[in-house]
Amino acid sequence: MVDVVCIASWNADLVSRVPRPMARGETVLARSFDISPGGKGSNAAVACARQGARTAVVARIGRDDFGRMGLDLWAREGIATEHVEQVEGERSGVAQILVFDDGDNSIAVAPGAGTGLGEAQVHAARATIAGARVVIASNEVPQAATLAAFRIARAAGVTTLLNPAPAAELPDALLALTDLLTPNETELRSLAQLPADAPLAQGAQRLLACGVGAVLATLGAEGCCLWRPGVAPLTIAGWRMEAVVDTIGAGDTFNGALAAALARGLPLEQAMQRANAAAALSVTGQGAIGGMPTAAQVGALLATRG
Ligand code: AMP
Repeated sequence: MVDVVCIASWNADLVSRVPRPMARGETVLARSFDISPGGKGSNAAVACARQGARTAVVARIGRDDFGRMGLDLWAREGIATEHVEQVEGERSGVAQILVFDDGDNSIAVAPGAGTGLGEAQVHAARATIAGARVVIASNEVPQAATLAAFRIARAAGVTTLLNPAPAAELPDALLALTDLLTPNETELRSLAQLPADAPLAQGAQRLLACGVGAVLATLGAEGCCLWRPGVAPLTIAGWRMEAVVDTIGAGDTFNGALAAALARGLPLEQAMQRANAAAALSVTGQGAIGGMPTAAQVGALLATRG
């Protein structure tokens, strides 16, 4: 039995630190290079497991060094891998990431074997999904896999959480199966086809009208805002963190911690508080998972706000 199932992308993050965004055709010397675990789904799974939730990934990876790196990570973090498919002759996903001196980043993702994650593999995990409390997906996995997982979840009364990142069009059928949608500001504007000067609330209302249960927008350092049908919006301020190292994985930490809190049976407002605090802590550590906190660390930060 697991609490949370992540329909997961897995990428090895190839991270170069460079002074600033480069112009087209420009080459700069990077300050450093490192390889670290990534992929929105895997990151969320790690964040979730560190919060103490029993977590499983449904993922497709290559039988290569980067694939082994994923399996090693999930084993270390106590994440169940019985629904991970390792495929001969295909490359595991990679993300080439540039981190700038101001902490911002640019990313190109090549999903590799993850592109082949489909309905059949999700159906093979039916019992695990139906027995969980929460299922998470993002736009880094094929939509057919997410749809299949959310149909199983909806029929079994399992909460569905979709991180619509990176931004992509979502069919109404998927929106209607989504209990909780967690776009950042850019994704919310793009999904709702919202002009740059229109308020985010307008976009959230459009998505609610498509059948999404709740829209929980992440607003970077500003925190997050929740819209539900017929309820006043709820904003939670961001945390002022002293030492921001990078924001890689902040959104994924938010989603993983949110899922873990919901799986524990916490009300949405409290789960949102925990997710906001966990994501703030994550920006003080390096790479996607470096700063991902434990449940105790989140509790300690929340206690400082009273
Ligand atoms: P984003 O994907 O940038 O909207 O960030 C996701 C979440 O991470 C936000 O909702 C915040 O909870 C947290 N976060 C991101 N950047 C920062 C920051 N600079 N300081 C504190 N929290 C942050």
